[in-house]
Amino acid sequence: MRELVFVVFSTLLGACMGSFLNAVALRTVEERPWWGAERSRCFACDQVLGPLELVPLLSWLFLGGRCRTCGAKIPLRYPLAELAGAVTAGLLAWRWGLTFTGFFALATGFILLLNALTDLYSGYIYDAFALVLGAVGLLLRSAGGWGALLDGLAGALAGAGVIILIIVISRGGMGWGDAWLMAGTGAALGLQLTLVSLYLGFIFGGIVALALLAMKIVKRKDPIPLGPFLAFGAFLALVWGPALWGWFDFAVKWPWS
Ligand SMILES: [Zn+2]
Repeated sequence: MRELVFVVFSTLLGACMGSFLNAVALRTVEERPWWGAERSRCFACDQVLGPLELVPLLSWLFLGGRCRTCGAKIPLRYPLAELAGAVTAGLLAWRWGLTFTGFFALATGFILLLNALTDLYSGYIYDAFALVLGAVGLLLRSAGGWGALLDGLAGALAGAGVIILIIVISRGGMGWGDAWLMAGTGAALGLQLTLVSLYLGFIFGGIVALALLAMKIVKRKDPIPLGPFLAFGAFLALVWGPALWGWFDFAVKWPWS
């Protein structure tokens, strides 16, 4: 019962966090301040949004996807980011429960989502946001002793190392932002789950890139941001990575065991 309440609570919190992180990502990309008194406004008519219009997902559904004042179509990225936040938090809360690990799983999931959003909107991963991921990892691992800290270091080195290797070999096929993102991810996830993240991230990135090429939505030389796929891979690793390792008879190290 307590677990169920936690999952429902986390899902609702996740929808709000998705909305908030979307605003942070958009304001960062547009170089607007994201603290202070600036209110949320309609992107088209500049009308300040009322409290009911700020309810994640539900307001979008009830408004039929349009601004109440001017009737402009609300871009899909708003409800989609809210949905992504809800799914991220709901699944992580379901997997890790109301525990120390569960708290860090949520924090990690939200920062991964923020990094995916800035990369989607601008093709850019902000070092500062990747660094926050590393800081969360360090905080988490300081509770687990030297073994846990070393595992975070190994994850960071492996995650960034693989991307840097690709940067060197492909000469610009991938950005340094991706390397920082994987360093931060590795610090939080540890070596084993970082390898799962990279594996799944590249597979999904490859599949989507091929599909976009086949449907002629992008051309061969168009850059496709890798960050969202790496973040998605890391999210899947957080939920199902331990089960995957268990399938090969390996136990995943603290705290993701
Ligand atoms: Zn409007």
